[in-house]
Amino acid sequence: MSQRPRILVVEDEPAIAELIAVNLRHGGFEPVCAADGATAQHALDAVLPDVILLDWMLPDVSGLRLARQWRAHPRSKHVPILMLTARGDEPDKVAGLDAGADDYITKPFSTQELLARIRAVLRRRAPEQADEPLTDGGLTLEPATRRVIWQGTPLKLGPTEFRLLHYLMAHAERVHSRTQLLDKVWGDHVYIEERTVDVHVKRLREALGDAGALIETVRGAGYRFTAHSSQ
Ligand code: CA
Repeated sequence: MSQRPRILVVEDEPAIAELIAVNLRHGGFEPVCAADGATAQHALDAVLPDVILLDWMLPDVSGLRLARQWRAHPRSKHVPILMLTARGDEPDKVAGLDAGADDYITKPFSTQELLARIRAVLRRRAPEQADEPLTDGGLTLEPATRRVIWQGTPLKLGPTEFRLLHYLMAHAERVHSRTQLLDKVWGDHVYIEERTVDVHVKRLREALGDAGALIETVRGAGYRFTAHSSQ
């Protein structure tokens, strides 16, 4: 993706938060730090992150409670959560996973381990953020080279159209509402109007030419990529 995956780091110890942030930046991510639950909630409301790193012990609220809260909320329920736990706290790990965390990392952890775990949850939860080429309906999208090829011919797409197509192809056949697309493709739906999605879908179809028919409008619901259109 052209945008670096955004990682919300919820950690109250400044030295650890800073160390994580530096390593994330170095690893190709965009860290956003929050030292307590309220700040984390504020950051999450502003822009939906791609992954949340969540410390167990926070000054105002437990990480466990935040994980439960975010899992229960429609906007944040699909954001992968990685809990940071102290060494040897087995019951904590189980409780964290029960609360909806995707994985946990035991402190102290190595940078390599942290980055590997983040990449793993991103691959599991968001196939559009992986680098594997996608092929469907005669159309191929190569994330690594940022190329889109229709029946042997490379097509020219703008960056937003590329991300939009990437997301739709990674979740082919499924219908996505405009709000979902704003969250997943733009990363935020707070400051952007839903009509923006329609504008970019129109541009995407124009850029795709004959392959534009693969992007289907589902009346009253949203859009989907389908190689098996019934229309
Ligand atoms: Ca802490």
